[in-house]
Amino acid sequence: MESRCNSNDSLDKASYCSTVERKPTSPPSAIVIGSGFAGLAAAHALQNASFKVVLLESRDRIGGRAYTDYSFGFPVDMGAAWLHGVCEENPLAPLIGRLGLPLYRTSGDNSVLFDHDLESYALFDMDGKQIPQKLVTEVGEVFDNMLKEANKLRQENSEDMSIAKALAMVLERRSDLRQEGLANKVLQWYLCRMEGWFAADADTISLKYWDDEVLLPGGHGLMVRGYRPVINTLAKGLDIRLGHRVTKVVRGKLGVEVSVDNGESFNADAAVITVPLGVLKANSIKFEPKLPQWKEEAIRDIAVGTENKIALHFDKVFWPNVEFLGVVSSSSYSCSYFLNLHKATGHPVLVYMPAGRLAHDIEKMSDEAAANFAFLQLKQILPDASEPINHLVSHWGSDTNSLGSYSYDSVGKPHYLHEWLRIPVDNIFFAGEATCKDYTGTVHGAFNTGLMAAEECRMRVLERHGELDIFNTAMGEEAGFVPVPLLISRM
Ligand SMILES: Cc1cc2nc3c(=O)[nH]c(=O)nc-3n(C[C@H](O)[C@H](O)[C@H](O)COP(=O)(O)OP(=O)(O)OC[C@H]3O[C@@H](n4cnc5c(N)ncnc54)[C@H](O)[C@@H]3O)c2cc1C
Repeated sequence: MESRCNSNDSLDKASYCSTVERKPTSPPSAIVIGSGFAGLAAAHALQNASFKVVLLESRDRIGGRAYTDYSFGFPVDMGAAWLHGVCEENPLAPLIGRLGLPLYRTSGDNSVLFDHDLESYALFDMDGKQIPQKLVTEVGEVFDNMLKEANKLRQENSEDMSIAKALAMVLERRSDLRQEGLANKVLQWYLCRMEGWFAADADTISLKYWDDEVLLPGGHGLMVRGYRPVINTLAKGLDIRLGHRVTKVVRGKLGVEVSVDNGESFNADAAVITVPLGVLKANSIKFEPKLPQWKEEAIRDIAVGTENKIALHFDKVFWPNVEFLGVVSSSSYSCSYFLNLHKATGHPVLVYMPAGRLAHDIEKMSDEAAANFAFLQLKQILPDASEPINHLVSHWGSDTNSLGSYSYDSVGKPHYLHEWLRIPVDNIFFAGEATCKDYTGTVHGAFNTGLMAAEECRMRVLERHGELDIFNTAMGEEAGFVPVPLLISRM
């Protein structure tokens, strides 16, 4: 079939095509949208499979929600910072291992709250008094029991409910688990940590699916030098176009046409869409024809939460030598916690991490006010704290390139929607943390779905291309195509 596009190279800037078609002799090609872990993994895999790949990224940097800032003079991860599951099964392990990047273990496998099981922490009351470790451990056990009881409730109730409602019902049934005074404040702090894991408030988190994620073994490791070296390695050799915000994706029988806000458009056999779920929800990318109803349902019904980071850089360390500092309070909203980067990296930095409504509220402030808010929390527990010399503030909830931090299951919405979000529609493929059923909301989950989308795309395009294209290419008509070795073996 004749192409109506003027361009000889399907991935170069294409003139407008009224129908999306491809030259029969072109090498297989794909456009990847978004350069986070999912997009980089997909682009890398497709390029290795001899596809012509162009990666379109709206920001002026790569990495997406894995963003390492160097403005303090050393790396600080303002998005993802942990590798959840330091083990061989982790799809990112071979890469991180090969790069020799150090990890700092903050917790083991059996953490109540998944990422930090408080092996090294100090909790304080609002008046600066440190909470005895014994009480923190005891309340931790109570919280664990409450979650177990809540899980019994879901066996009994076919209707889903929120974690907040379930915990309230548990306390009605089991008055022995009720906590008063300081113990209740510690309990609220545990809840606050759980809300941090989901980046959402307990009254929105599904009881039915809250623990449906697969937790890889090996504990949780902080990337001491940040995620940036991993991102850079994955990006090597790729044709990445920064500042290219995709506005439209048109799919035709034989290819896709992707338009960018600067008026350019790109054509290829297929597209891999890895933009965050928040961006899909905002409808800032128009799909033609419209996406099927089941896909729109997945986009609408999977929830996206917000967690932010406020990094405070001090000239010296004046806080206890623990991994976490926490402030307990009478509601989870008013509790807080700081990650002590000094413990893991040697740099005098505390990272305040609000989530859910609190994160939304803080995002409305100026950066100056947000940093001051975080510092005041610290002052409450350490009155002699010296002023920070510098700060960094993330805005994952309002940044148009993310519109949220990561996805979670809200009340009454099934977990299988993540799979629906992943399933391809014709020649467009979907990847990204929210499309990952097992490792939702993680870097390795995003990476995995990028690889899966690339493989599905490769199969589909080669199938559709038909043997003629491959035959022509193998005959040397397309320069630069890496020959695929024949596989032969003998039992
Ligand atoms: C504060 C915070 C802490 C986190 N902590 C951890 C952690 O410790 N460990 C962990 O495993 N995970 C963590 N996560 C989650 C993890 O960062 C994400 O799951 C993962 O990075 C998502 O990768 P992705 O490729 O799916 O999406 P992204 O990384 O968001 O990539 C999508 C890309 O699409 C681009 N884009 C958006 N719109 C357009 C458009 N219209 N056109 C072109 N490009 C577009 C974006 O700029 C972005 O680069 C954290 C996230 C946040 C925000």
